[in-house]
Amino acid sequence: MPSREATAYFGAGPAPLPTAVLEKASQVLLNYNDSGIGITEISHRSGDAEKILESTKSALAQLLDIPTQEGPDGYQIIFLQGGGSGEFSASVYHMTALWVEKRRQQIVKELGTEDETKVFDALRKAVDDEFKLDYLVTGSWSLKASQEAARLIGANHVNVAVDSRKDNNGKFGTIPKESEWSLTPNPAHSGMLYYCDNETVDGVEFPAFPDVDSSKYHVIADMSSNFLSRKVDVKRYSAIFGGAQKNVGTTGITIAIIKNSLLTQLAKPDLLRKLNLPVGPVVLDWPTIAKNNSLYNTLPIFDVWIAGQVMQSLISKASTDGPKIATQQAESEKKASLLYGILDKYPVFHVVPDKSVRSKMNICFRIGSEQDRDDKEKKFLAGANERLLLGCKGHRSVGGCRISNYNAVSVEKVEKLAQWLEEFAQQQ
Ligand code: PMP
Repeated sequence: MPSREATAYFGAGPAPLPTAVLEKASQVLLNYNDSGIGITEISHRSGDAEKILESTKSALAQLLDIPTQEGPDGYQIIFLQGGGSGEFSASVYHMTALWVEKRRQQIVKELGTEDETKVFDALRKAVDDEFKLDYLVTGSWSLKASQEAARLIGANHVNVAVDSRKDNNGKFGTIPKESEWSLTPNPAHSGMLYYCDNETVDGVEFPAFPDVDSSKYHVIADMSSNFLSRKVDVKRYSAIFGGAQKNVGTTGITIAIIKNSLLTQLAKPDLLRKLNLPVGPVVLDWPTIAKNNSLYNTLPIFDVWIAGQVMQSLISKASTDGPKIATQQAESEKKASLLYGILDKYPVFHVVPDKSVRSKMNICFRIGSEQDRDDKEKKFLAGANERLLLGCKGHRSVGGCRISNYNAVSVEKVEKLAQWLEEFAQQQ
């Protein structure tokens, strides 16, 4: 049986966790804090649970430099269930309710009356004529999010401002320039500008915050697969979310960072129903979860604890001033450039995405030519498995190879894989 130390695991999620955290986890599962009760057995409403929640939030705020003050410009950190996919829906429900209420208030002002029928008629017309959610479709996950939006509110309200497959032979792998995006021209008509910061399946990552005016568009990003891998200018986002199971912890919680100004002034469910707009389940409702300190219903506190421990381990290795994630960012970049360096050195390898948008987290490549690709990739993966370099197969929807370079994958393990890449290329 291979040991954990001998194995290097490059799976895309669930993904490796630091061994020290798992060792401690195995103890607290049996007996948390010398209480005689295991961590999965304690109440989510206990003092211990509350402490875990608070320290995890504080660690995240330190790592990403999140402004957590009260008032409209501060942010809430909340924990939800339902995965990243749950947030595809939650963001639609929420941003729709926000847009409708803002527009309603404006109509009241414009008409100079609160007359319900008059206001409602004008609002219905505004929803029909104006209301859009903008999506940047740059990979499989933003595509899924946009499809969920169309399912919930109707395709007529979803503006796919960019579909990067269009200029790339029908495949994901690029991010067209901002000047080529067709955002809803009047930002007041746009409920949000949604994008996925790192596309796990396609290996495409935004190199930086997109060149859009975040004071006019509500920018919301899915950071499920690059959460805690690099610095983030949180202040430019209306909301950020990510499932924990890749770079942060165990499967079971989703973390969302939401600007306070988003959490008030939302259309009431009755009004949304009258407008034929959807009302989401309460467990996905950001204000409800925020108001209840993420404890509206039973939260898997063990998963929050794991995330907190992972965050503490990142803080303790931070060596610079400023956002504490900078140290981890440097390590991620070092590991990614080692791998891309070898992939670029040998013509037998073909990195899938364009150089300008290569992900530091999910490194996607093909081997060989169209004729011998199946054979070569099979050989590469079999050789990797023999060497206990596991989880290098690409996502089933696209094939090929994918190396996930998450934080818990050490430099040494990446070096081991790099060695096999070199060896394999030299055999060709
Ligand atoms: N977004 C991204 C970028 C992902 O990689 C994934 C899962 N791999 C999801 C969303 C969906 O997450 P979940 O499976 O937690 O719903």
